[in-house]
Amino acid sequence: MNKSWSDNGVANFVQILSQVAQKYGTRIIKVNPRGTSQYCSGCLNRVSKTLSERWHYCDVCTLSCDRDYNSAVLIKKLAVGSSQDKKLPSLAVLL
Ligand SMILES: [Zn+2]
Repeated sequence: MNKSWSDNGVANFVQILSQVAQKYGTRIIKVNPRGTSQYCSGCLNRVSKTLSERWHYCDVCTLSCDRDYNSAVLIKKLAVGSSQDKKLPSLAVLL
């Protein structure tokens, strides 16, 4: 797929999503997902894994789940944390 089409598609989706959120009195929070698969969503421990490793297991808190689920939970925590001014570090700080 042409990259600019893909970028335009994502930009259009975010714009539409923002408009819908505004209509319903809420907002969207963009979170950079980069590196989220390398951290535990339960305790923020770094759990390095290759792309072929599809399962997340944390030795520190024993969280065991699908790698994508772990990333999704962490992304949600990053978004909610940023919207509630919690002390959750950004991945930019962790990386
Ligand atoms: Zn953990």
